[in-house]
Amino acid sequence: MFAVTILGNNSALPTLDRHPTAQVITCNDQLMLVDCGEGTQLQMAKYRVRRSRIQRVFISHLHGDHYFGLIGFINTISLLGRTEPLHVYGPPELLPILQLQLDVAGTVLNFDMHFTPLTPEGCGLLFREKDLEVSYFPTDHRIPCYGFRFELVKRKRRIVPEQARQYEIPSAFYSKLGEGADYIRKDGTVVKNDWVTLPPPKGKSYVYCADTRYNEALLLPHVNGADLVYHETTYLQDQEARAWDRYHSTSVQAATLAAKGNVKQLLIGHFSSKYQEVEGFLDECKPLFAPTDIAREGVTYLV
Ligand SMILES: [Zn+2]
Ligand SMILES: [Zn+2]
Repeated sequence: MFAVTILGNNSALPTLDRHPTAQVITCNDQLMLVDCGEGTQLQMAKYRVRRSRIQRVFISHLHGDHYFGLIGFINTISLLGRTEPLHVYGPPELLPILQLQLDVAGTVLNFDMHFTPLTPEGCGLLFREKDLEVSYFPTDHRIPCYGFRFELVKRKRRIVPEQARQYEIPSAFYSKLGEGADYIRKDGTVVKNDWVTLPPPKGKSYVYCADTRYNEALLLPHVNGADLVYHETTYLQDQEARAWDRYHSTSVQAATLAAKGNVKQLLIGHFSSKYQEVEGFLDECKPLFAPTDIAREGVTYLV
C-alpha cells in the first residue's frame, strides 16, 4: 500500500495558505519525499511527518518551487544527528548546487548522501527494493523534468489448487510453483508451471507527473492503468494557451489524460497563485473524470 501525504499544492509564487510542491510517500515502512519546495520543513512539522525516517528524496526538476527547501531539510537532519544514508535522485546539476551550499557554510554532513543523477538517457527503472519498484520518465517542461512511477510488484504466481491436485503435485512444492518453476514427476514428465498457476496479481501503483504540458504520447504509457495519478493543473481551461506557453497543464487536460490512461483516481495540484479558491478545478475535471480530487495539504491519500 502507498500513503501519499500532500505538503504543498501550489505553483511558484508564494501564497499565505498554500505551499509549493512537496509530497511524502509511505511504503513498506519507509518514507520518500517527492519534491521539496520552500517551507517543506515547516509543513512536515505541522503535519507530523517523521523526517528522520525519510530515506529517499526525488527532485523532479530544478525550478525553485520544487527544491528550494532541500538544503534546509538536509541541514536539519544532519544537525539532528542522522547517521543513516540519504538517497537523493535529481537532475545532475542538483549535486554541485547542494555541494556549494554545504561547502561555503563549512558544513560536513553526519551521514552519507548517495546521489543518483536523472538523465533523459537513463529513464526507466531507478531502483528496486523488495516489492517496491520506482521508475522515472521525462515530462514536457521548459527545462529537463521527470515524473516518477511507484509500483508494488507482486512476483508470486497464483496457484490453482484444483489443477495442482489433478497433476498430483505435492503441496511442499507449491512455493516453488509460486516462483514459476515447472514440476518434474518421478517418471521424468514435466508439468508446465502455467498449467497450474495464473500470473501474479497486479500490484498497486502511484504516478507523480511533475510539471508538464499536456502530452499524451509522452505521458500516457506511464500513467496507464495506475491506481492513483498526480497531475499538475496550474490553470483552469480558459487559460489553455497560457498553460502551453508556460509548459503547464489545465484542469481539463489532466482529467482527459486520466480518462484516456484508464487510471483509477486523479489528484490535481500545482495551482497558480492567481487562484484564491481552487474548487473550480474540480468542477472542470469531474465531468470528464469523476474520481478526481484536489491534492489538499495535510491530507493523506491511500492507494
Ligand atoms: Zn513548478
Ligand atoms: Zn517547473
